[in-house]
Amino acid sequence: MSSACLARAAPLETRARPVVPRRARAEAPRSAAPRRGARAMASRVVCAASAPVPIMVNDLTGKMGRAVADAVVARGADQCFLVPVAFSGQAKDPVDVGGVRVEIKSVLDGDPGSVLESLKQTYPGMIVVDYTLPAAVNKNAELYVRHETPFVMGTTGGDREKLFADVLKSKLPAVVAPQMGKQVVAFQAAMRLMAENFPGAFKGYTLSVTESHQSSKVDTSGTAKAIVQSFNDLGCGFDIEDVELVRDVPTQLGRMNVPEEHLLGHAYHTYKLTSPDGTVGFEFQHNVCGRSIYAEGTVDAALFLAQRVASKSGDKTLFDMIDVLKEGGMVTN
Ligand code: NAD
Repeated sequence: MSSACLARAAPLETRARPVVPRRARAEAPRSAAPRRGARAMASRVVCAASAPVPIMVNDLTGKMGRAVADAVVARGADQCFLVPVAFSGQAKDPVDVGGVRVEIKSVLDGDPGSVLESLKQTYPGMIVVDYTLPAAVNKNAELYVRHETPFVMGTTGGDREKLFADVLKSKLPAVVAPQMGKQVVAFQAAMRLMAENFPGAFKGYTLSVTESHQSSKVDTSGTAKAIVQSFNDLGCGFDIEDVELVRDVPTQLGRMNVPEEHLLGHAYHTYKLTSPDGTVGFEFQHNVCGRSIYAEGTVDAALFLAQRVASKSGDKTLFDMIDVLKEGGMVTN
């Protein structure tokens, strides 16, 4: 999608009424009307003449999958709609998402490939979103590749090298990103730019890094690792092993100020820089509660991908969130 295309997008009121498949229209919830400002902003992601994008969310019974499914419905039927079938590790009872009744099928039993083929027929231009488990990443990606279904992979872990190799070899358009929080990705990219443009700018400064996540997360956050790398290129000389990992509830509620309702889902990061003589201090912080920032970014990524598939522009087929960010015009979280 070119910036010219973005600029030409007509206001919502004047755009041609999109064709929503009968099944989805029948199931489209009355209550799913999105916030007006968000809709207007999101309309810039989709060109004027484009049809709403069918989005299949695997597995929408999981925490992230559900957040994405809610965001798809909230974005509005003129932008996208939820495909009423999802894959999980096992078949489950149907789930209602804002009035859309979604059938949950097992991706491990039966013939998931023919399910995908039939959905692609019913919902042309379908994009799959994957938020499953690290152990499922490669097998699920192989399935999407085999059945030429463009996908957004939000699930972390698995064999990433194989994932990238499989996608590149197939030339299937896909967005793969372990961090879908657009603003966090933008901050990460800005730090990288600063490091590349001003190497050594913080030489001699002492860095301290604190991150807090739900207690089930054992490893250091990937985002912290990437930002620390930039600080090191700016001259800080910080050992990633020295990141303070806060996982205990009293510290999270006390010193970290995490709201109680987000103890089970938050990502807080603070980076403090102090000059050698202690007279200068810098502090950078990004604190995320809940999952909506990732869910909104995922919907933007799916709409971006749909545009790429439709326009067939360029040779590039494997994208990340920087590519999505560069397109601009996304919903503010
Ligand atoms: P979750 O445990 O709540 O959900 C995972 C779901 O996947 C479960 O419902 C499970 O039944 C299902 N599942 C298991 N095997 C499957 C298979 N083979 N195919 C389809 N579904 C299967 O986990 P979550 O909190 O939703 O996180 C999911 C993934 O998303 C994790 O890898 C997490 O690190 C990642 N994540 C990424 C971002 C991002 O910005 N990219 C943000 C948050 C979480």
